[in-house]
Amino acid sequence: MKRCSLASALPALALALAGCGGSKPTAAAKPPSQVFAEIDGNAILEHTKTLSSDTFEGRAPGSKGEDFTVAYIVDQFRKVGLKPGNPDGTFVQKVPLIGITPDPNVTLTFKKGGREEKLKFKDDFVAWTKHVAESAELVDSQLVFVGYGVQAPQYSWDDYKGTDLKGKTIVMLVGDPPVPDPADPTQLDPKVFGGRAMTYYGRWTYKYEIGAKMGAAGVLIVHETEPAGYPFAVVQNKVNEQFDLMAPDKNMSRAAIEGWLSLDQARKLFALAGQDFSALKKQAATRAFRPVPFGVTASITVQNTLRTVNSRNVVGLLQGSDRRLKEEYVVYTAHWDHLGVGAGLKGDRIYHGAQDNATGIGGLIELARAYGQLSPPPKRSVLFLAVTAEEQGLLGSEYYAVTPLYRLAKTLAVINMDSLNVHGKTRDITIVGLGNSDLDDYARQVAAEQGRVIKPDPEPEKGSYYRSDHFPFAKQGVPALASGAGIDYEGKPADYGRKIRAEYIANIYHQPADTVRPDWDMSGAVQDLQFYGLIGYRVSMADKYPEWKAGSEFKSVREEQLKAAR
Ligand SMILES: [Zn+2]
Repeated sequence: MKRCSLASALPALALALAGCGGSKPTAAAKPPSQVFAEIDGNAILEHTKTLSSDTFEGRAPGSKGEDFTVAYIVDQFRKVGLKPGNPDGTFVQKVPLIGITPDPNVTLTFKKGGREEKLKFKDDFVAWTKHVAESAELVDSQLVFVGYGVQAPQYSWDDYKGTDLKGKTIVMLVGDPPVPDPADPTQLDPKVFGGRAMTYYGRWTYKYEIGAKMGAAGVLIVHETEPAGYPFAVVQNKVNEQFDLMAPDKNMSRAAIEGWLSLDQARKLFALAGQDFSALKKQAATRAFRPVPFGVTASITVQNTLRTVNSRNVVGLLQGSDRRLKEEYVVYTAHWDHLGVGAGLKGDRIYHGAQDNATGIGGLIELARAYGQLSPPPKRSVLFLAVTAEEQGLLGSEYYAVTPLYRLAKTLAVINMDSLNVHGKTRDITIVGLGNSDLDDYARQVAAEQGRVIKPDPEPEKGSYYRSDHFPFAKQGVPALASGAGIDYEGKPADYGRKIRAEYIANIYHQPADTVRPDWDMSGAVQDLQFYGLIGYRVSMADKYPEWKAGSEFKSVREEQLKAAR
């Protein structure tokens, strides 16, 4: 904005009419809420149509579809005025991935004395190695049951009790330890492991990570449908090629063998060890639990087919306007990848991924365009990060979070967009993991200004907070906001939101049917982008960093990170 000596004496309108010292009158600046409200739903729709078209081949990492997608996003970021987000002067961050296909002709053998049990791959168990190597094996590795395999100092919980597990194969239960509420033993204690909500300690990714930390050679998780949140059939899909990050140590610090046992086979294993599954499971839900050596050994050899893929995160930067604060960042994320092209599917073989997550990328581009028009512009820098390989296990966001382009101690917040609302405006908006951080207070304020209410995740036991791209940032300490569409739609019957959600999960989600539909109404996406835009903008202008709330599992990580940076 131009300044002139009379400015403070004149009301803004008179100033605009009269001009200023003969210079051309400038249009009165719009408030940020209006700039974000004018995000163009049609533009998002056009981006979505392009990205989900046949040409983009379902946007699989490492495919021709990736080349088209990355080129498109870079081009759009340029057009809306973003600068290259990588300090090396480019719009991309290279993400080295490894594709691992395990050979299905593999047997897992349990032995005790003269007795032997041979388990059948896929029917009885699945196992793989993430070692970047031709093969990996367990040779007569001692099996030890470690309960839920959790080490959580904030709940005074340690399932390991200092037991030496080097070279051993540990067997653990999926989910959080279910600790009854002392006030009402029919309910879970809300003060321990989130009560009904799943914490990260319940996720299978945590189980393999802690197993590796303990030096175990093998980690086997006992599958149970309810605490896992999905049936064994989902686990059995892991027999196809899996992508992972190529760590500098070629993933050799991970356990050699990772896998799942079916519940039936787990019961048989416990019986072979002379143990009772139900009794040990009960003990495992207490702090007094100690690891139980089985006196049984495990042997398996896994052969891998390997290929390397150089995938890319796309990153655009809007530099902050404050000389000092521009070295600090607010990050928006959305994943660009989807499932590619399916083999053996009849009819349409392309997984278009229109809603998941071409809409999020369209939203990211439009949000960046709106940010460029803000007055006053954000004091801190804003990073727009389109990540790869979310569908393969949050790999692009994980790579950024462990190899950040800008220090995480200077990164105030992450706001993630995954699958925008395409069914019109809502009176509510869902926050996943509500109560985690100060970002929820920003969210509540902005929602109220929109005439909306914040609602918690209706299914916290599914652990959604750990299942999209904000999570790798949270795990590294950065406060992260994840929200889903509301369910209370304006001008629609009360059960409309639940109905379309159920229809989406049953017939569209992760299927070729995820395409742009003629009945889409982008006004809800615009409403949600205004919400995300205002939250990020206010964080970029705030005089303090958002923090994790007391009791959050990420609070101590952040505090140590900020302390180390001082
Ligand atoms: Zn997604």
